[in-house]
Amino acid sequence: TSLTNGLNLNQKQTPTGSALNCKGWIQEAALRMLLNNLDPDVAERPEDLIVYGGRGKAARNKESLSLIIKALKELEDNETLLVQSGKPVAILPTHKDAPRVLISNSQLVPKWATQKHFDELEDKGLMMYGQMTAGSWIYIGSQGIVQGTYETYAALAKKHFNGSLKGKLNVTAGLGGMGGAQPLAITMNEGVCLAADVEEWRIRKRLETRYIDEIIFDLDEAIDKALAYKKDEKAISIGVVCNAVELLQRLIDRGITPDTLTDQTSAHDPLIGYFPEGLSVDEAAVLRKDNPEEYVKKSYATMARHVRQMLELQKSGAITFDYGNNLRGRALEVGVENAFDFPGFVPAYIRPLFCEGKGPFRWAALSGDPQDIYETDKLILELFPENESLHRWIKMAQERIAFQGLPARICWLGQGEREKAGLAFNKLVAEGKVKAPIVIGRDHLDTGSVASPNRETEAMLDGSDAVADWPVLNALINTAGGASWVSLHHGGGVGIGYSIHAGMVIVADGTDEAAVRLKRVLHNDPAMGVIRHADAGYDIAKDTARKFRLGL
Ligand code: NAD
Repeated sequence: TSLTNGLNLNQKQTPTGSALNCKGWIQEAALRMLLNNLDPDVAERPEDLIVYGGRGKAARNKESLSLIIKALKELEDNETLLVQSGKPVAILPTHKDAPRVLISNSQLVPKWATQKHFDELEDKGLMMYGQMTAGSWIYIGSQGIVQGTYETYAALAKKHFNGSLKGKLNVTAGLGGMGGAQPLAITMNEGVCLAADVEEWRIRKRLETRYIDEIIFDLDEAIDKALAYKKDEKAISIGVVCNAVELLQRLIDRGITPDTLTDQTSAHDPLIGYFPEGLSVDEAAVLRKDNPEEYVKKSYATMARHVRQMLELQKSGAITFDYGNNLRGRALEVGVENAFDFPGFVPAYIRPLFCEGKGPFRWAALSGDPQDIYETDKLILELFPENESLHRWIKMAQERIAFQGLPARICWLGQGEREKAGLAFNKLVAEGKVKAPIVIGRDHLDTGSVASPNRETEAMLDGSDAVADWPVLNALINTAGGASWVSLHHGGGVGIGYSIHAGMVIVADGTDEAAVRLKRVLHNDPAMGVIRHADAGYDIAKDTARKFRLGL
């Protein structure tokens, strides 16, 4: 009823349980996942429809949100809702196996694909920024990124520190929706984390969800404590309330070199996401509104300094990498010519996994009952008995990760594994071992769904970093295969002009028809990644393609 009386997004709106509000479970899943994206426990700023990642939104405005909800409730099993940059524009006849929703977010013709032009269109109410899983309704809170961040730090530890971050000082900044996973991922790898964020409430939010252990306001006190934890080999994380450049400068001035160094401030968005130095949060809000051009100029200047500091600390021995926010790209734009002297995390640590079709597979229990996720956890452990790191992850996730919104789980699964899991989940639903269907999706940061030359496709073997045919083919094949909703986005992660990527969600409702779709989609979707990497010349991908007879 609250939906029809106007939405109060400061309260939970996601329906749970096993009764339908829509005409089928797929529509219901889209409705629940859309509202789950805006759950106050999930979204960063639900009242502004902002889910995560700077201004990544779930719907263009409140009117659009209400209309999407209405459309989903009325949508038949042989119809498809079209969403254009967060606004529902039409319902067209399709068929039962077609996606129930098709979404395109933030697409611009390349010559006009600038932040400035996007901002003008957004101001006029003609577009919205979909980020990755914000506008494609499969964000599950910070857990979604914890696994990826855990994998990254684990790969780093394996490469540089014999497999553990024990007794290592890991410095970073940005504790937002995604960046907030860093402290937990670091302590899960046994390291000390010292992370800066200018916004106190962000750190408080991470404290509430147990992603960070301590908040400290004094810079030197935070540094001293982190050093003491390092010495005692204690896996503890500290959030310090300050600008990233202040923290790095103090480390440089005190001659302290962190063992690892990265950053997850929202540098992809110089106006809304990044905070220039020298301004309080309130002052920044005023300047952003009164003089956006000056704000952006200041942001760029701070980002240039930020990267220079990282380069300096890298020189003194810190293992330094870009964490997918385009900070290096921004610094390069304003003349830091050696900005790319430190690598991005994908070529450094993640690409070999992509070559096996591995990536952030995730699912949520539409019932809202955590027990349903524990059932799926049990099943995953049974399905992949040989995968030790998966077993370790599920155990740690159960112990340390608080659910946000609809209970959900993530783990990196590859070619072959995803369809196996999807079909097993469908059976679980059919047998009534869970209370409602399970919705399965993934990040757009995945093996075969993104072209992003400063991040996922940085330094491809054949130089095809900027080729964006792959994510388009990914969206098309997932549509053809019968995913439940499919989205094609522009600008996620690294900002307008820098990336094209596709999303996919599919519902396991326990029916035989769903099983057929799941088998197809969860085969084809990771296969796109294996094919893309094999085509670029990666041997691991070629072997994976052979093993799974991908018919290159
Ligand atoms: P967010 O907007 O929710 O949070 C960003 C945080 O950075 C905010 O808390 C903000 O206060 C803080 N911040 C901004 N400028 C700062 C500065 N100069 N000093 C200190 N703190 C500052 O964004 P998010 O969802 O956490 O994503 C962060 C960035 O990481 C984005 O650019 C996003 O695209 C990128 N990202 C990377 C990955 C990955 O896998 N590497 C995944 C998702 C997102």
